[in-house]
Amino acid sequence: MARTALRVAALAAIAALSVSAGWAAGGINGASAIKAPPAQAFNWDKLTQEATALLAQYIRIDTTNPPGNELGAARMLREKFLADGIPATVWQPAPGRGVVAARLRGIGKHTKAIVLLSHMDVVAANPKQWQVPPFSGEVKDGDIWGRGAIDDKGPGVVELMAMLAIKRAGILLNRDVIFIATGDEEEGGRNGAGWFVDHEKQVFADAGYLLNEGGGIVQTPGHHRFFEVSVAEKTPMWIRLTAQGPSGHAAVPPDETAVTHLTAALSKLIAYRAPVHVIDPVRDYFHAIAKLDGGPVEFNHLARALRKPAYRKDFLLTPRYNAMVRDTVTPTVLGSSQQTNVIAPTAYAEVDCRLLPGEDPVAFLGRIRQVIGDDTIKVEVLLNFPAVSSPRRSILMNAIDAVAWHDGHETVVPTMIAGFTDSHYFRADGLVAYGFVPMELTVAQEHTVHGINERIEVKELGNGIRRMVELLRFAGGS
Ligand SMILES: [Zn+2]
Repeated sequence: MARTALRVAALAAIAALSVSAGWAAGGINGASAIKAPPAQAFNWDKLTQEATALLAQYIRIDTTNPPGNELGAARMLREKFLADGIPATVWQPAPGRGVVAARLRGIGKHTKAIVLLSHMDVVAANPKQWQVPPFSGEVKDGDIWGRGAIDDKGPGVVELMAMLAIKRAGILLNRDVIFIATGDEEEGGRNGAGWFVDHEKQVFADAGYLLNEGGGIVQTPGHHRFFEVSVAEKTPMWIRLTAQGPSGHAAVPPDETAVTHLTAALSKLIAYRAPVHVIDPVRDYFHAIAKLDGGPVEFNHLARALRKPAYRKDFLLTPRYNAMVRDTVTPTVLGSSQQTNVIAPTAYAEVDCRLLPGEDPVAFLGRIRQVIGDDTIKVEVLLNFPAVSSPRRSILMNAIDAVAWHDGHETVVPTMIAGFTDSHYFRADGLVAYGFVPMELTVAQEHTVHGINERIEVKELGNGIRRMVELLRFAGGS
């Protein structure tokens, strides 16, 4: 279906919604007439209060990963669903680890379900650096504070509360909505989403779409608000280099050692710059930014602009831009002897490489070996999976379009993120997955993610629930 047709469908859906009394008929999927409750069925203030209390409680369950220990959080979320009569189940992928899923039934017999994905585990937080204890869930100055408030417990609460709100309002969507909260995302997801996709696939066998972290409502450099939706992610290629050499006393060193071999290899790797390549979602992203901000003109035709050496040099100085147009190679872990005066027989380095979607991992490894130019250095792959992108047109993007339009006639910009999320496990399984959390974050708030003083505005948590309810109604045809 053409983009314009989707846009027209979205607008038609909005028109149906805005005739507030008559939500009954139609919707995007042409669902049969459903008696919808009046708008006052949603008490947003009350839902926001309830969500605030829930998020505070959720933050107080310490799910720092490692070790994760998400089981308590999974059980708490299950109880919340069960209290409202929504069936929910908890799994234990490994002792103490948890996954929880819940299903809000719709009336669609042949429509594909939507998965709302989030993760329960969080990264570590050093209380000494924080203004409030990071696992307190304290509500202060209109914000809910704590590790996970944004990444990713807040978004999980928005998804959960939206499902409860729809159920309580007696709305029957034209498709099922499946909530899945996993653990272990911050460590790669093998004991979370990876385990779930491998072992409990039947839980989401009827799903066609998925929403996850990775995008949201943000601002351009020129302070124009837009809806950023990630449709693609770079893929990690984590490698370990191991060098060998003679061992001995450092007082009588040989000419070359494992350490000197390794550092020579690393110097070459550090100097290496992968070719610049502007993939379609990245091209479109910069084009959209230029349109919103009225420039810079180079963003209109980024690939062409990057052929000019001066502009290219300037552009690539911004680390995020650099990461969006090329593969990156970043040594992060080093190891060899534990003692200053001992020459160890081995030295190793771990290197975090990130590849653009479409890059051939085997060819990339070949290039890395060529750059190092030393066959005695062993190169092992620690982590890699295929990069699968999601199509930019779908019923789900259509619903996001509709919410954006409703929210101030905002633009939806599909893009690629430099990091990776649990979405890849589900994309590989055929789901159309988008990174989009319907909450607005400032750059300063984004910096608290994996940083200090992570917090989310109470008001924005409520807005998130309201937008998520809208989104599900647009996508669910009621
Ligand atoms: Zn996250």
